[in-house]
Amino acid sequence: MTDADVIIVGAGPTGLMLASELRLAGVRPLVLERQPQLRETPKANGLGGQILELLRYRGLLDRFEAACTAPSHPAPRYPFGGVHVDFSPLPEPPLRGLTLPQPHLERLLDEHARELGADVRRGHEMVEVSQDDATVTADVRGPDGPYQLTARYLVGCDGGRSKVRDRAGIPFPGTTYPEVNRLGQVTVPDSVTRLDDGDLDVPGLGRMRAGAFTRTDRGVFGLGWLTPEILMVSTTEDESAEDESTAVDDDAPMTLTELQDSIRRVLGARFPLGEPRRLSRYQFQARQAEKYRDGRILLAGDAAHQFPSTGVGLNAGMLDSVNLAWKLAADIHGWAPDGLLDTYHHERHLAGARTMLHTQAQVALRRGDDPAAEALREVFLELFADEQPLRRIGALISGADIRYPMPGSHHHPLAGAFAPDLTLHTDQGTTSVAELTHTARPILLDLADRPDLREIAQGWRHRVDVHTAKTDDRPADALLIRPDAHIAWAATLDEPAERTLRAALSCWFGAPLETTGHVNDRPS
Ligand SMILES: Cc1cc2nc3c(=O)[nH]c(=O)nc-3n(C[C@H](O)[C@H](O)[C@H](O)COP(=O)(O)OP(=O)(O)OC[C@H]3O[C@@H](n4cnc5c(N)ncnc54)[C@H](O)[C@@H]3O)c2cc1C
Repeated sequence: MTDADVIIVGAGPTGLMLASELRLAGVRPLVLERQPQLRETPKANGLGGQILELLRYRGLLDRFEAACTAPSHPAPRYPFGGVHVDFSPLPEPPLRGLTLPQPHLERLLDEHARELGADVRRGHEMVEVSQDDATVTADVRGPDGPYQLTARYLVGCDGGRSKVRDRAGIPFPGTTYPEVNRLGQVTVPDSVTRLDDGDLDVPGLGRMRAGAFTRTDRGVFGLGWLTPEILMVSTTEDESAEDESTAVDDDAPMTLTELQDSIRRVLGARFPLGEPRRLSRYQFQARQAEKYRDGRILLAGDAAHQFPSTGVGLNAGMLDSVNLAWKLAADIHGWAPDGLLDTYHHERHLAGARTMLHTQAQVALRRGDDPAAEALREVFLELFADEQPLRRIGALISGADIRYPMPGSHHHPLAGAFAPDLTLHTDQGTTSVAELTHTARPILLDLADRPDLREIAQGWRHRVDVHTAKTDDRPADALLIRPDAHIAWAATLDEPAERTLRAALSCWFGAPLETTGHVNDRPS
């Protein structure tokens, strides 16, 4: 007997998303969160990338859009390492963003996980973890004292300073960049005068230009108007850290005094600030866990990767959870084919490496100050004036270009890709891939009325839903769609496909009903 199927350490966006997906897959997650209340720390200001498509495929996007603090819009101008990529020339921008501050996002994810029946315990800190062949045990410090929990698996969704990663002894190699960035949105104090052109007259400093950066020996000071009443103030200082444990802590709240002290160090004088509306601090790191799994312990989200650019962490972490949940559930339900759970590391480490690629390229683009760096930025801007590179960079940033490597030698071009949202005409009316994926169940989509393929899928009818439909410009005769909306297999138009379908069904969804023996059909 275990206390739960899966213990999730950390109720950030990654942990809460994992809890919901595990509930959809029919297992019992228990979430441990050390903070007693939902966090108000102003980390991310929005959510973007392929996770928005996935939320739409779960029927959740409308709810998230309704909670936005500004209208949802495609991102026509996206900051990419010191240059702005302008997507407006494209008829369909490849990137969308929701203005959904992280506390709002976490509240929504918490509500959704609880609605689905997840047990979320706040004020409960995991202090130790150990595992044997059958179970994993967590030592927990709760409001009523210490206690122990056992489960089949434990997932560390406990952020960049992950204790789970540390206790599992998983290396987290990479770089901590020396710049510490501090940002404040503040009102204007009475002692500061706003001039007609928007510049500021500051006692002790004189005229300060709005919308400009001041570089000194100690760092960079930025000043601009967010609204006619609210100033955006920022500093960047070099504070070298030896490793990830000495980097600044994203979760430690920043104070107005810390921002004021930083400005004084950079400018050499005091800059008066009014009431703070939002204060945040971050330091970029480029790190990726060497492995995302050690036996019964797994890592997801910031615990598994830290990227040196803004706007990508939530997308990467929440998609880790979507990829992991159904595989863990298959193992817990006892039907996972050999090697299924290991594909979590293979697929998501690869996806993380793609995100690392473009975020590190952004570091190279933004750091230089000399004419060579300026030239590099100019060349990039020239390339981004054309549609093809714009599409490529949009797909890279959003993660829409991820193709998970599929086993076997027969590969349709769609295999491994995120399933396109086809409009589907059925005997019961019109539906879509997005609607069929609300329940997160595997799907065989027969697009060419192929009874041969439907008959094979009968053997997996307890796990795989079969739908027959017509669609315009059908991309394949049939698609096998996994719960994470990635295509496991596709049938080339008008070709026999029985053998490869049977292999794909066994490879991803275990033994068919007729088979009593153990099936290990993962083709090499
Ligand atoms: C200033 C700032 C701005 C950002 N802007 C963006 C942005 O615009 N877009 C974007 O996508 N990303 C952004 N990010 C990154 C984003 O915030 C992270 O990628 C995201 O929070 C990762 O989520 P997570 O759930 O993996 O980890 P976290 O959010 O770090 O959550 C980890 C949770 O685990 C809990 N925990 C830790 N240890 C334990 C333990 N031992 N026991 C129990 N609980 C524990 C913590 O309390 C925390 O609640 C920003 C980050 C910062 C700092």
